[in-house]
Formats: sequence, structure tokens, C-alpha cells
Amino acid sequence: MLEIIGLFFLSRRNGRVAAEKGYDKVPIIVMTVALWVGLEVIGVVLGLSVSDELGSILLCGILGAIIGAVSSVIITNNLQSKNAPADAAAASKGAAASSKSGNAFSHKATVTFKEQWICENCGAQNAVFDDEKCFKCGEPKP
Ligand SMILES: [Zn+2]
Repeated sequence: MLEIIGLFFLSRRNGRVAAEKGYDKVPIIVMTVALWVGLEVIGVVLGLSVSDELGSILLCGILGAIIGAVSSVIITNNLQSKNAPADAAAASKGAAASSKSGNAFSHKATVTFKEQWICENCGAQNAVFDDEKCFKCGEPKP
């Protein structure tokens, strides 16, 4: 009974963490239950193979369940967040980064525009990086 309560709370906790990261709760809850129960059964089987004492066999089962529970928490905690912008810290960081790159871009664009030069021979607009000669006719920069 106590075990079912523990499994219920662990499943709910893992499901919530997964949902916060943008994942479906159900597979995480299934994984949590499978790890807990699966490793508990493996623990009991191993216990039966090494001991005839009920206490030892149950202890192996409990250890298996604990390993399963801890594994499910580690797996859930290590899920990559799918909705990084929804994360408060990531959102502010992302906004700062995008506004910074936006400024850098417009600044660069302005500079490029200012430093464009018009070819006297053919009237082509040359970017600053077409430095010495007109890209169209090869006329030297005035
Ligand atoms: Zn030209």
C-alpha cells in the first residue's frame, strides 16, 4: 500500500517535470512505473536465486524499486526542454541575445550602406567589400 502511494507521487512528480519541459506526461509515467516495478521484480528474482529468507528477498525487491525510482528521476531531470523560451530564465536570455544580434545586424547593415560606392563609369552600386574595382566593369574605385 505504501509502495503504491510512493509510486503515485513519483509518477506525478516525473509527469509534472516532463510536462514543464514540453513532453507528454503519459510515457514518462509509464516509464516510471515500468522502472520501479520492473527493477523490483528483477530484485525479487535475484533475491530468490541467492536466498531462501523472505526478508532478504524483500530487501532485494526494495533495492530494485529504489534503483528504478532513482533512475526514473535522473532520466526525467535530464530531459532536454522542448520549450526553452517558456522557461523564464531561458526566455530572458534568449530575448537579450536576439535583441543584441538584431542591433549588431542593423549596425552592420548601416555601415555597409554608407560605405557603398557608385561606379563613375557604369553607375553600379559597389559594396564596401568590392573595394578596389567596380564589380561590374572593373573600373577602379574613385
Ligand atoms: Zn562600373
